[in-house]
Amino acid sequence: MAAARFANSPYAGTTVAIGTLHGKESAFAPAFRRWLDAEVRPTVDLDTDALGTFTGDVPRALRPTDAAAAKAIAAAAELGTPLGLATEASYAMAFGGFGPVAHEELAMFVDLDRGIRVPHPIRSYARVAPAQVVADADEARRYLARVRFPHQGVVVRAEGRIHKGLQREEDVLALLRHGPMGLEPDLRAHMNPERRRTLRRLGWVMAARLRTPCPACETPGFGPVDVVRGLRCAACGARTSRVRADVDSCAACPERRERPRAVTSADPASCEVCNP
Ligand SMILES: [Zn+2]
Ligand SMILES: [Zn+2]
Repeated sequence: MAAARFANSPYAGTTVAIGTLHGKESAFAPAFRRWLDAEVRPTVDLDTDALGTFTGDVPRALRPTDAAAAKAIAAAAELGTPLGLATEASYAMAFGGFGPVAHEELAMFVDLDRGIRVPHPIRSYARVAPAQVVADADEARRYLARVRFPHQGVVVRAEGRIHKGLQREEDVLALLRHGPMGLEPDLRAHMNPERRRTLRRLGWVMAARLRTPCPACETPGFGPVDVVRGLRCAACGARTSRVRADVDSCAACPERRERPRAVTSADPASCEVCNP
């Protein structure tokens, strides 16, 4: 049975190295085992934080796709396999407040034997509490309750130092001895349950994508890279900015295919002609 299930997995029996300091292998391993018969193993030595951190103590120098590819390639090198995987998250903090913020989680798979990079992003809205300065234990406890501590870990900024990965209330409160301090959620995967759920979802879609061969050259990883806008208005037929198709492409050859979306006309509310 297993042989049939994995008959079209290009990665059956392989090892995929995932570059992580933060336990991300547990998010990807089940999907890669079930869909691809591939084993996902974490790196031990790779310092993924050297490429930039959420807390800003290491600036992010590379674009997310390049940072993720660099991590995936370094992970593959460390474990001595041609297959590497890494993820890179970004949050749009602009809105402030306790409302949702845009969260993009990008997975990057590299296959050094085939010479391909397969990126796959997921965009969602996440609840990310903004940083807050607290002066006493009551204020600190209110903040911790709001961020669902200790499931969500926190970062404390006190006396010019950053204390990451705190999950014990006494450790947080002890830092108040220096006076008022900054509190913020720790967004790293092992400290953030919401992000772990997103990573698991990304694991399944990436594994499914790697089972999808290019219709022209059969390279694995054929999948979405872009969208086509211009869905026609249901009332007047003018083109709107709504998406009418997804574009799939190959990581190795120029093959591109449009996949029309199920929705075939746009709500007139989104039409500039109907709403001048
Ligand atoms: Zn219209
Ligand atoms: Zn191709």
